[in-house]
Amino acid sequence: MKRSSHFLLAGALCATTLAAQAQDAGKALGGLLRQIAPGALTAPAQRAPATNDLIEMLSQSVDSIDEPKEIEIGRQLASVLLGSKPLARDAGLQRYVNRLGRWISLQSARPHLPWTFGVLDDPGFNAFAAPGGYIFVTQGLVERVDEAELAGILAHEITHVTEKHHLRALSAKARSGVLTQLLASQVRTSNAITGAISQQMLALGRDLYSSGLDQSDEFESDRQGVALAARAGFDPYGLPAVLQQLRTAAPDNPLFTLTLSTHPPAQQRLEQLEVAMGARLDAHSGKPSVPIARRLQQR
Ligand SMILES: [Zn+2]
Repeated sequence: MKRSSHFLLAGALCATTLAAQAQDAGKALGGLLRQIAPGALTAPAQRAPATNDLIEMLSQSVDSIDEPKEIEIGRQLASVLLGSKPLARDAGLQRYVNRLGRWISLQSARPHLPWTFGVLDDPGFNAFAAPGGYIFVTQGLVERVDEAELAGILAHEITHVTEKHHLRALSAKARSGVLTQLLASQVRTSNAITGAISQQMLALGRDLYSSGLDQSDEFESDRQGVALAARAGFDPYGLPAVLQQLRTAAPDNPLFTLTLSTHPPAQQRLEQLEVAMGARLDAHSGKPSVPIARRLQQR
């Protein structure tokens, strides 16, 4: 384990590396916007044949899906997410979250993926990942956390990608025969994103993001996310602090409903993390809280 060198790297190079990555991150988001901006979403279905292949592959096995196809599936799911919520119109905030997310993803098991981070224009408290490295957080979440907490959330979502949690869940759904029912029950051609992706992928994506992942995947992302955030130089207690916030959120508060309904109870997640972390990461905790607003002013 090269944790100590990661920490050195984080300490010594963090600021300059982040600055150097800013341009790349901006380009990546620009690319994302071009690919899945509203105009692109209503474009003719150039990818339809490939999409049918993707569904076919998902129905067989995750092992048959190579990385370029995994990324393509993620791009399509990202457009499902962006079809329901647009990106926030704050370029400075988008750049900041991209820089932060890309820095953390560089410490992950799959640093070479085309990691792309976006803030959705939504007052709710939520975060989403899609295969291949697409990650979104809601503006309502960003407004309620500090930098270490956001780093913990991004590290949790990055782990969903590196461990292929969504890809496996999609594959299980595609194999279960639920797709036929979904297609029958969902309103067809009702959304601007139809045409850019297939009805099958849209149905699978909507079902996945409304039902959530297996609890074991969430616990794994919590455990690995804490370690990943620490490796990137952030306080490992950022994610537990977010879970404390979720634990005290009123279950009927509509801003928290989706997060609470698609994840195991926050109390359980905290207990699992306590077992996994023990006191092992305590040496890396206790860093002063950095408000995100201050980071944005520094720019
Ligand atoms: Zn999760």
